[in-house]
Parts: sequence; C-alpha cells; structure tokens
Amino acid sequence: MINNIKAVIIIFALSIIVFFMSIFTIIRQFNYEVSEPVSDAKIIDTPAAMPPYLLPTTQTDTPAPTPMPAPARVLIDPGHGGSDYGASSDTLGIDEKAVNMYIALKLYSLLQQDRDRVYVNMTRFSDASVSLHERASMANASYDFMISIHCNTSNTSSVCGISGFYQTHAGIDKPFTSEELARTIQGSAAAATNAHDRGIVEDYDLYILNHTTIPTVLIETGFLTNPLELKQLQDSVYVDKLAEGLRLGILEMANRVIESRR
Ligand code: ZN
Repeated sequence: MINNIKAVIIIFALSIIVFFMSIFTIIRQFNYEVSEPVSDAKIIDTPAAMPPYLLPTTQTDTPAPTPMPAPARVLIDPGHGGSDYGASSDTLGIDEKAVNMYIALKLYSLLQQDRDRVYVNMTRFSDASVSLHERASMANASYDFMISIHCNTSNTSSVCGISGFYQTHAGIDKPFTSEELARTIQGSAAAATNAHDRGIVEDYDLYILNHTTIPTVLIETGFLTNPLELKQLQDSVYVDKLAEGLRLGILEMANRVIESRR
C-alpha cells in the first residue's frame, strides 16, 4: 500500500516537472521571435555593395564617334631598276636607278609614321627590272595617286633644280587633278630643299603619265649633271630634307583623298 502511494507521488512529481519544462520551452521560443525580428527595413538600409560592372551606366546624348575613313593609298615609283639604269655614265659615277631608290626608300620610311592617313607601297623595293606597263597597271589597280621619282640630266652642267611632270587625265582624275598633285608635291620638295624651283610641266611623251588613270606626278628631283646636285642627291642630310618635302606634299594630298570619302 505504501509502495503504491510512493509510485503515485513520483509519477505526479514527474508530470509536474514535464509540464513546467514544456511551459518554459514555449516561453523561450516566443521571446526569441519577439526580441529578434527580421526587419525588412534592415535589409534596405544595408544593401550589399554592387560590383562596378553591374552598376547602371550613365546615359548621355554623345553620339558614337564617326569611324575614320580609310587612309589614302599612295604608290611610290622609284624610276628605272635592274637592266634599266636610267641616266648613267662614267663621269656621273652613279646610276640614276640607285639615286631614285635612295630617295624613295627614305620617303617610304618617313611615311610609315603617317599610317593613319597614308597606306604606302612601292613599285620596286630592290634593284629589280619592272616594266613601265607593270608600274602603270599596279597604280591603276588600287591606288589613289602615284609619285614617280627620277633624276634629270642636261648637256649644260649649270642647269639645276626640281621639276614636276604631269598629264591632264580629263574627266578621270579624282578627287584632284594630276596638275594639282604635281604642283603640290613639286612645290613642297623645292621649298624643303631650297633647290631651284623649275615648276611643273605638262608632258605627253612619258609612258607612265600616258598610261595611268589616277593622279600621277613624275618628279625630277635634281640634275645628276650638275656637280652640286649630284653630290646633294647622294648626301643623307640633303635627301632627308628632300624626302620630308615630298612627304609633306603627299600628306596634303592624302588629306584631300580622305576628305572626299567623308
Ligand atoms: Zn629617269
């Protein structure tokens, strides 16, 4: 009997303990939810930093830049070459083809710094035989204008200076005439060197001028029969000036080609 009473008391006590533990657990859970709510405002106040590449770009009214027109295509023709020596004699001591190439290579080299405005090529880069037909065909196929580089000779040693030869290609030349090209290139070369300015000459006897369909000038850069010019045309400092003068004339005409494409 006493044992039964003890068992009832123990069961009752355990029930009481379990009851209060349950109550305690419920109260704790309630307090937690109330004291630490997840606030929407808290999320808005502390946004995560957005990577710069995801930030919206500022819209402006600046139009997209207009693409630069393609550079002018210029063909330099070092006259003669290979079995064609040009002006040549024992008294000169040098062949015209070599002097022409010396000038042309300096000019070609200078124009490499102007690639945004000029794409430049040459009819020959070595002492090669290139026919006049090939030179004219190359020019007509894909160039805007052509500069043929030569040296002059005279029976009179005192004759000197720079001259430009051209032919009127009526209705064909564009965006300027061969005369305009000749005047600009010849004038620029004469000014840069202080050489005697012989001006420009319209000529219908030169094959290269007869067979080109683009603006073309044949520049006689000096007289090999004039002792001073023979020396100057082999002098690095003088030829640098000459090449720079030719370059400035070419750039002026290249700008006109580019403007005509806008
Ligand atoms: Zn020549």
